[in-house]
Amino acid sequence: MTKEVFITGSSRGIGKEIALYLAKSGFDIVLHCRKNLEQAQDVQKEVEKLGQKARILQFDITDRQKCASVISKDIEQNGVYYGTVLNAGIAKDNVFPIMEENEWDDVINTNLGSFYNILKPIILPMIEKRIKGRIVTLSSVSGLAGNRGQVNYSASKAGIIGATKALSQELAKRGITVNCVAPGVIETDMIKDIPSDEVKKIIPMKRFGTPKEVASLVNYLMSEDASYITGQVISVNGGLYS
Ligand code: NDP
Repeated sequence: MTKEVFITGSSRGIGKEIALYLAKSGFDIVLHCRKNLEQAQDVQKEVEKLGQKARILQFDITDRQKCASVISKDIEQNGVYYGTVLNAGIAKDNVFPIMEENEWDDVINTNLGSFYNILKPIILPMIEKRIKGRIVTLSSVSGLAGNRGQVNYSASKAGIIGATKALSQELAKRGITVNCVAPGVIETDMIKDIPSDEVKKIIPMKRFGTPKEVASLVNYLMSEDASYITGQVISVNGGLYS
């Protein structure tokens, strides 16, 4: 049976590219979005053109009950996922002394809260069905090194690293790997407001990364070849703060 991978936030940006890369490798894809259903439907068509199956789940990853009900129903109807990519995330940048409550709460609840909300309904069925599958989380160079104006985002992404490492230890004996990809600055909507020229100067490779350069690593971590890699944080950052 074809292996299926669920990718949060796969309507655009890095998540979309991960979906297409994994589809090219022969995985069926469970797409996901919050608002942009039309964009997700376009990705669905692209996945189908590559000869793989795709369906779309739409919900807000901060809504714990919705996550549990939609994911549990999907697993009941279509079977347990082989892989999950926790990709969806947001940034709401501000320097800490004037950071608003909602800027802190929204970023923590979306980026870190979703680790619990999404994986809780997924892991137990994986264990029960003895699926030797794959979990990949998305952190950031900000979670590893910290970044001015991103105390909220850095905290959420550092939290993801801790959660990934701890879960990898719990699941290792079951053959489920849990790894984290930490991108540097990648060309997507998320970075549209940053001062590009200034930021490029501090990146050793003097350019931003592409979503495809992140997707290829996720694809490797999903593969059979990566079966003995777990609990790792792997950067894709053009040498930034390495
Ligand atoms: P984009 O802003 O391009 O896309 C974000 C995706 O997440 C969209 O599909 C969006 O859905 C979804 N999403 C956001 N909030 C929610 C929510 N509450 N519920 C459900 N879905 C949600 O982001 P990127 O592709 O740039 O980033 C992907 C991941 O990579 C993120 O975790 C980000 O933190 C991380 N990252 C990105 C870097 C970069 O430079 N771009 C650098 C380091 C890490 P919708 O379209 O429906 O809103």
